[in-house]
Amino acid sequence: MTERTGRCLCGAVSFTLAAEPLAARICWCRDCQHLAGNGTLNILVPTEALNILGNLSEHTKTADSGNAVTRQFCTVCGTHLFGKSDTRPQFRVVRAGNLDNPSSIQPSTNIWADSAPVWACLDPAMERAGKAPAPPAPPPVAQ
Ligand SMILES: [Zn+2]
Ligand SMILES: [Zn+2]
Repeated sequence: MTERTGRCLCGAVSFTLAAEPLAARICWCRDCQHLAGNGTLNILVPTEALNILGNLSEHTKTADSGNAVTRQFCTVCGTHLFGKSDTRPQFRVVRAGNLDNPSSIQPSTNIWADSAPVWACLDPAMERAGKAPAPPAPPPVAQ
């Protein structure tokens, strides 16, 4: 696989991703709509595969799942880049729009579709979950 790179709007935070995403989903939860003004494409990655350069500020909120979710932002331009959950420290969420090549990601599912605005264009060819997605499959065992 190729290593992916990305950055925030101003470039003060950059990152590399050294593993294929475990999941790629467009999220329509209300939190994502507040963060992005729209649905967002999130990829789930193993924590150890994500290498971050730059300073991040954090905001923690209890999600609809009941878990504390911490979101991380560039301290300079405020771009939302990453998320993490207290209960699943082995995973990080990366906002795919910050990748240098967002087209390298193929989303599979619209999640929290029940809270999408009426004007949202949800691809009918993709899977759809009204609320939370099924948990990710365990990562493949190295050969
Ligand atoms: Zn920035
Ligand atoms: Zn969301």
